[in-house]
Amino acid sequence: MIRRRAEIRGVVQGVGFRPFVYSLAARFGLAGHVLNSGFGVEIEVEGPAGSVDRFFEALAAGPPPLARIESTTIGELPPVNDREFEIRESAARSDALALVPPDIAACEACEADFRDARNRRHAYPFTNCTNCGPRYTIIEDVPYDRPLTTMSEFAMCADCEREYHNPADRRFHAQPNACPVCGPWVELWDHGRCLASRGEAIAATQRLLREGAICGIKGLGGFHLACDALSETAVARLRERKRRSAKPFAVMASGLSVVERSCFLSDPEREALLSPRRPIVILRRRPECRMATECAPGNHTLGVLLPYTPLHSLLTAGFEALVMTSGNVSEEPIVSRNDELPSRLHPICDFFLVHNRRIQTRVDDSVVRLFEGSERLIRRSRGYAPHPLALPFEMRPALAVGGELKSTFCLTRERYAVMSQHIGDLENYETLVFFRETLEHMKRFFRIQPEIVAHDLHPGYLSTRLALEMTGVEHIGVQHHHAHVAACAAENGLEGAVCGVAFDGTGYGTDGQIWGGEFLVCDGARFERAGHFRPVAMPGGDQAVREPWRMAVAYLRDAGLDSAHPRAKLIGQMIESGIHTVMTSSCGRLFDAVASIAGLRDASNFEGQAASELESAAAGGYHDPYPYRISPERSVDFRPMIESVATGGEAAPVIAARFHRTLAAATVEMCRLIGVKRVCLTGGCFQNWLLLEQTAARLRSAGFEVFLHRRVPPNDGGLALGQAAIAARLR
Ligand code: ZN
Ligand code: ZN
Ligand code: FE
Repeated sequence: MIRRRAEIRGVVQGVGFRPFVYSLAARFGLAGHVLNSGFGVEIEVEGPAGSVDRFFEALAAGPPPLARIESTTIGELPPVNDREFEIRESAARSDALALVPPDIAACEACEADFRDARNRRHAYPFTNCTNCGPRYTIIEDVPYDRPLTTMSEFAMCADCEREYHNPADRRFHAQPNACPVCGPWVELWDHGRCLASRGEAIAATQRLLREGAICGIKGLGGFHLACDALSETAVARLRERKRRSAKPFAVMASGLSVVERSCFLSDPEREALLSPRRPIVILRRRPECRMATECAPGNHTLGVLLPYTPLHSLLTAGFEALVMTSGNVSEEPIVSRNDELPSRLHPICDFFLVHNRRIQTRVDDSVVRLFEGSERLIRRSRGYAPHPLALPFEMRPALAVGGELKSTFCLTRERYAVMSQHIGDLENYETLVFFRETLEHMKRFFRIQPEIVAHDLHPGYLSTRLALEMTGVEHIGVQHHHAHVAACAAENGLEGAVCGVAFDGTGYGTDGQIWGGEFLVCDGARFERAGHFRPVAMPGGDQAVREPWRMAVAYLRDAGLDSAHPRAKLIGQMIESGIHTVMTSSCGRLFDAVASIAGLRDASNFEGQAASELESAAAGGYHDPYPYRISPERSVDFRPMIESVATGGEAAPVIAARFHRTLAAATVEMCRLIGVKRVCLTGGCFQNWLLLEQTAARLRSAGFEVFLHRRVPPNDGGLALGQAAIAARLR
C-alpha cells in the first residue's frame, strides 16, 4: 500500500477535473481525496502501488477536454488507511497562483438537453454543466466555487442539488448549475415595462427582431446590440444610432450551414468557429452572401460567430443570422448591468432581452483570423482571457499597463503572464474605470502584488499616467515598438537577438517623434533602432489620422509634387512653419497617404480604415513592386514610389497590389542589411493579411526565420505582454 500526493497546475478548475479524478480513482479502486486549491487541484490517492501508478498514467494520458495541465508535482506520503475516495471542500491558499478558467461555449450534451422537449431543461437559456458555461464572467473570487460566484444568489432546487452531488452526473460540482425551477430567467423590456418573461420573452423578442427592431441582448460578458443581419434598413438604423459609421459589425449565424453559404470556409476556420472559445472569425464573403452590405461596408471580409450560450442558440433559431455587436456607445466599454440601460442603451435600442444573472466581469467577444492554419488573435477576450500564457523564463511580479487603443494589461508571476481581456480605447472615464476594476480583480484572483510597473513612453497616454500614479513600485518606460517586438519574441519563446519589424499607426519614439515603420534589433531589455521609414510631416497631428488626404499632401510634398486637394496649400504652409506638425515614420500613415492618392479614401472613421480598404481593393496576380531607395543611414525612402503612384495613372486595384508588394520588398531588403536571421513581424499593420502573407513568404524565401503572433494580437492589444516580458526580467 502506498499514498501519493499530486499538485496539478493549469486550467483545472471549472472544467470537470474533480469528477474526472473521482471516476478514475473508482476505476482503480483507490481511496483518498481531490480538491480545488489556490494553485489548481490537489489529489491524494492511496492503494496498491501498481494501481496508483496506473491511476497517474491514465490521468496524464486523458485529462478532460477543456483542462490544460501546466505542471504536475508528485510526492510520496505515509498511508493513512483511507477507505473511500471523496471530493473535498476547496481550500483557499492565499499565496498561490490560482487559475481562473475562461468562459466556455455550451457543449453538445447541454445543447441536446435544451433542444429535447421532454428534458426538464427544454428551452432553458442558462443550461450548463462541468464541461461548459460561464466561468470568468461570474467568478467573484478564488477558489472557483459556487458561493464565490454570482450564482450564489440562486439556491439550487432538489433536482439540481442531486446532480451537483452525484459524482456520476455530468453536473457534479458544476458551479453555475441551474434549471427553470431554481435558476436565472429572461425578461423582455421596452423602455419602462416588462413585456414578457421566461420562454415567452424569447419568442416575443424574435417577433420584434423580425419586424426590424433593434434589441439589446444581455449575454455572457455583457450586452449585444442585435438586429436581423439580412435587413439592410435595420442594420443601417443600428449603424446610425450607434454612431459607428463604418466599423464592421459581427454577425451571429444560426448554424454552420449559414456560414458555409455566406463565406469561404477552410477546415481550420470551421474548427475555430466551432471551438469551445467560439470567437468571431474573420472570413471572406462569398459573392452570393445575403448579409446586409451595411454589416461591413467596403470590406471583402465579414466577422462571423456561432451561438455560444443556449440563449443565443434559442434566439437565433429561425433567422439566418443576427447582427451581434458590442452593447456600447462608440468606444465606451460594453454595458453589463441592467441598471445601466436607461442612461447608455435606451437611445440605441427599442427593446431589451435581459436576465437576472449578474455579470461580475465584463468580457467582449474575441476576434480571430486564420493564417497558415493557425488562429491569429485580433482581439483576445472571451474564451481566451484570463488563461495565463506560460513563458520560457521566470519573472518578477510585474504589471504592464499596455498602450492606449485596444487596451489590455498584463500581470506576471513565476513563468506566467496573465493578460486581461480587451478593455477598449483608454480615452474616456468609463474605460478607465473598467481598467481599474479589472486590474483589482485580477490582482486578487491571481494573488499578484506587482513590484514593478511597466508603461509606454508616451507621456499623454492615460495608461502611462495611471502607472506613474502607483507608489511603492519601480517604474519602467518601454518604447512602444520595442514592446511589440518583445511580445512576439516572448510568445514564440525566443531569447537572444531578434530583428523586429514593427509596422503600426502610432508609437512614441525615444526621440519624441511618432514612430511606426520600424526595424529594431532587440535583445531582452535592450534594443537598437536599426532602420525605419523616412519620416514625413504629419500635419495637424491626430487630425491627420482622421483625414488621410493630409498625409497624401505631406507625402506628395516630400516627393516634390503638388496635391490637387483644395486645402493643400494651407497644409503646405502648416508643414513649412511646423505648426501642429510632428514628424512620423508611421507605416499606417503611409497606407493612408497611398489610399488617398489612389482615390480610395480622403476621410477615415476609425484607425486603419483606409488601410483595410486598400487591402480589400488590391488586385490578385503578380504585380511589380514600385521603386524605392534605402539610404546609407537605413531609412526607407518611398519618394520614388509616391511619384509613380501619383503620376502613373494606374487603377486603384493595381496601385494597391503594387504598394503591398513594395512594402514586402523593402522589408526583405532592410532585413538583409541588418543581417539578423530571426525576424518578428508585429504591429497593427500586420492585421493586413496581404501584407503579412507577402512579407512572410518573401522573408522565408530569402532565408530568414519568420515569427508571427498567435497568442496575443499584433496590434496594441498585445503590447502589455511585451512590456511585461521586458520589465519582469529586470533585476
Ligand atoms: Zn455542457
Ligand atoms: Zn434547479
Ligand atoms: Fe502599436
